[in-house]
Amino acid sequence: MTTAEIIAIGTELLLGEIQDTNTCYLARHLRGIGIDLYRSTIVGDNPSRIAQAIQESLARADLIITTGGLGPTIDDPTRQAVAQAAGVSLEFRSELWEQIQTRFARYGRKATENNRRQAYIPQGAIAVENPIGTAPAFILEKDLKTIISLPGVPRELEYLWEQQILHYLKNRYDLHGLIKVRVIHLAGVGESQVDEWIGDLEAQDNPTIGLLAHPGQIDIRIAAKAESEEQADNLIALAEAVVREKCGDHIYGANATTLEQVVLQKLTDRHQSLTIIECGLSGALCTRLTEVLATAPEIKIFSRQCENNLEYKQIIEARLIFETDIIFGVCLQTDNEKLVLHLNLFLPEEAKETSRFFGGHPANAVLWSVNMALDYLRRNL
Ligand code: ATP
Repeated sequence: MTTAEIIAIGTELLLGEIQDTNTCYLARHLRGIGIDLYRSTIVGDNPSRIAQAIQESLARADLIITTGGLGPTIDDPTRQAVAQAAGVSLEFRSELWEQIQTRFARYGRKATENNRRQAYIPQGAIAVENPIGTAPAFILEKDLKTIISLPGVPRELEYLWEQQILHYLKNRYDLHGLIKVRVIHLAGVGESQVDEWIGDLEAQDNPTIGLLAHPGQIDIRIAAKAESEEQADNLIALAEAVVREKCGDHIYGANATTLEQVVLQKLTDRHQSLTIIECGLSGALCTRLTEVLATAPEIKIFSRQCENNLEYKQIIEARLIFETDIIFGVCLQTDNEKLVLHLNLFLPEEAKETSRFFGGHPANAVLWSVNMALDYLRRNL
C-alpha cells in the first residue's frame, strides 16, 4: 500500500490565523484512492525547517504532498526547500515563464521579476501548469519516492488535484484500490456498552471498525479497502449487518443523517404539530429542530422557554393551553449537586416521562441533553 504524508506550509497556519482546510481535503481524497495517510505536519515559512520536515517524511512515506509557499515573494519558500531536501538545485524553466507571462498578458498586466521566481522549480521536476492561479505546481520524483508541491489557495489546489495530480498518482503507483467509509450513528446508549457489543469487530482488519463517542451520541465508523467501489460496498454491507444486529434500535441513521432529521420525518409521517417547552438549555433543542425545518415546511413547531424549574412545572401542568398535537417538555436542572434531565412527552394517545442523570463534563451537558431529548422523541413518535 502506498503511504503518504502531508506538509502544510504557512506561518499563518501556525499562528492559527487560517484553518488548514487543504490537509482535510487531501486526506479525504488520498483515502478515496486507497493511499494510506500516515502523518500530517504544519511548518512555517522557513526553508530549512520545511526541508527538514520533507526529509523526515521521505524517510517514512512514499509520497509527500506539500501545500502553500509557492507564491512570488521571498516568503514563499517551498521551491527552495524541496530542492534542498532532495539535494538538487533550482532550475529556470522557460516554458513556465512563458505560461506565467501569457496569463498576466491575458489580464492586461505585465509579469514582474518576482513572478519570474515562480518559473524556477527543483532540477528534474515535472512542471504542473496552474491555469487558475499564478503559482505553478511541480512533482519531483526521487527514486521510488515522490514529492508533490501544490499551491496554498484551496481553489487552485483542488483544481490541480482533480485535473492533474489524481491522474498522475494512479499511473505512478498503479492504484486500483480505494477506501470507502460509512458512519453509523447511535443514540441513547453508552460508549462502553457499544464497545462491549462490537469489541470483537473492532479488532478486525478489513473493514476496520472504530468507535467515536460524542455527548449523547456515538458513531461507528466502518472503513473498507477494496479494488472497486462495489467490493468496498459489499465489505461494508456485511459489517454493517453485524453492527445492526448487535446495536438494534439504538441506531438512528448513517452518514449525513441527523437525529433532528429523523424526528422531523416522524412528525411528517404523523402529520402532527409540536410544542417544545424548554428549561435550562437556552433554546438549544428548538434551534436544532428549526435548523432543519426548511426541509419540512408543513410541520409546525412552537417553542416556549422557561426561566426556572418552577415555571417549567407550572407550564407542564397547564399544558392544555397549547393547541398542538404533541407537547414535549425538556428540563435540565441540578438536583442534589447532580445534573438531571427531565423529559415529559404528551402524545395524543398517551403521556410519558423519564429522567436521566448526566455524568460527563458540565460543558457537554446541553449537547448531551439535546441529543437525549431528540432520541427520546425519535423512539416514542
Ligand atoms: P499563491 O501564489 O497562489 O498565493 P501559494 O502556494 O504561495 O499560492 P500561500 O501564499 O502559502 O500559497 O497561501 C495563499 C493563501 O491560500 C493563504 O493566504 C490562505 O488564504 C490559503 N491557504 C494556504 N495554505 C492553506 C491551507 N493549508 N489550508 C487552507 N487555506 C490555505
